[in-house]
Amino acid sequence: MQEFISVEQAQHQILSRIGRTAIERVMLSSAQGRTLARAVDAPQDAPRFDNSAMDGYALRFEDLSEIPASLKVVGTVAAGSPAERDVQPGEAMRIMTGALMPNGADTVVQQELCRQQESWVIIQQRPGSAPGANVRLAGSYMRAGKPVLRVGDRLNAADIGMLASFGKSVVEVFRKPTVAILSTGNELVELDRAPGAGQIVNSNAYMLEALVLASGATPLVLPIAADDSGAIRAAFEQALGAADLVISSGGVSVGEFDFVRDVMNDLSGGMAFWKVRLKPGKPLAFGVARNERSTPIIGLPGNPASSFVGFHLFVRPAIAVAAGVPNELAMPGTVRARLAETVAGASGRRTYLGGRLWFEPGAEPVFEPNADQGSGNVTLFSGCNALAIIDEEQTSIGAGQFIDVLLL
Ligand code: AMP
Ligand code: MG
Repeated sequence: MQEFISVEQAQHQILSRIGRTAIERVMLSSAQGRTLARAVDAPQDAPRFDNSAMDGYALRFEDLSEIPASLKVVGTVAAGSPAERDVQPGEAMRIMTGALMPNGADTVVQQELCRQQESWVIIQQRPGSAPGANVRLAGSYMRAGKPVLRVGDRLNAADIGMLASFGKSVVEVFRKPTVAILSTGNELVELDRAPGAGQIVNSNAYMLEALVLASGATPLVLPIAADDSGAIRAAFEQALGAADLVISSGGVSVGEFDFVRDVMNDLSGGMAFWKVRLKPGKPLAFGVARNERSTPIIGLPGNPASSFVGFHLFVRPAIAVAAGVPNELAMPGTVRARLAETVAGASGRRTYLGGRLWFEPGAEPVFEPNADQGSGNVTLFSGCNALAIIDEEQTSIGAGQFIDVLLL
């Protein structure tokens, strides 16, 4: 049964059936882009010790009761080398940014407010009205024991820097999902073969492999399966045995050889074959295999542009969820951009247009659509860094108007 559904309905139905992968421990140096499976609490204070935020002089605030103040310079503390003595009343110590505060000092005066004359420093201005200026107190950024990262947080460079500063060398993350890529069609040949009459190279396998990699998952590209139910069934069984998610391209639209649909139906105990109100990429199949792991199967249309859009809208979020990202954070983000040209949408279907987005200093981002937006156009999205979104109700948006743009 084919139904007409919206992009959101399809996304919701798919994401509600995606399970998380198992948990593994990885070294921090390979944790970039991985999703935390266990929350992290700060194992210690940040900063760990009181230190100077400026290059200047460490002193006692009480010694600044009269300005200018003259204090005796009794040493220098650099980052990494603690002071060898305390700061006594009437004394100051030259201090560098990040250096451990010497005992006795409670304030740092930045060097711009000071003048050193031999072994004396003259302070010409108070750095504040109370002790503590320019001192980063232990625990002032983060207290030991406080939560810093949550389950489902995708680790970025800032997270990794923070975890390293805490001395955390291993994190628990969800395993990278393995995504099997299945191509069917008698017209397809492998890349290293010259296509005969009516044949084409299996380009989707390469495109989808690259998309899977870019989504942070591990691709498993299977050989082309001919339009033959035995071959298709064997390919699906191999894929289901090895992957956390199976995607296929081709064979899901009407008037297709029935094998892909029959095999999918048989292995899943009932696939949904949707018509999504979407262009390009209307036909979409989704189901869950009757195996131990309830492996999800997403059948993308065969047209390269349709497969590409379908991947970004349905597979990329599914991979994110399998990898531990919460559903509400799994969708690709959009920005608003000004249209460089008037564009047309398909009535009753949300249209995605390939094009280039760029940023000019002091102006809004600009989106320039590609000329030919046909879904069979294998060159369509090459060179594009964004997809502009025309809503179902809109059939045309004029040059200079704003449009939502999905970043690729
Ligand atoms: P289908 O969805 O199987 O009806 O295919 C729609 C169009 O996509 C046809 O022109 C197919 O030849 C083409 N196509 C199907 N699979 C692939 C593939 N793996 N790589 C490139 N084009 C494909
Ligand atoms: Mg086909």
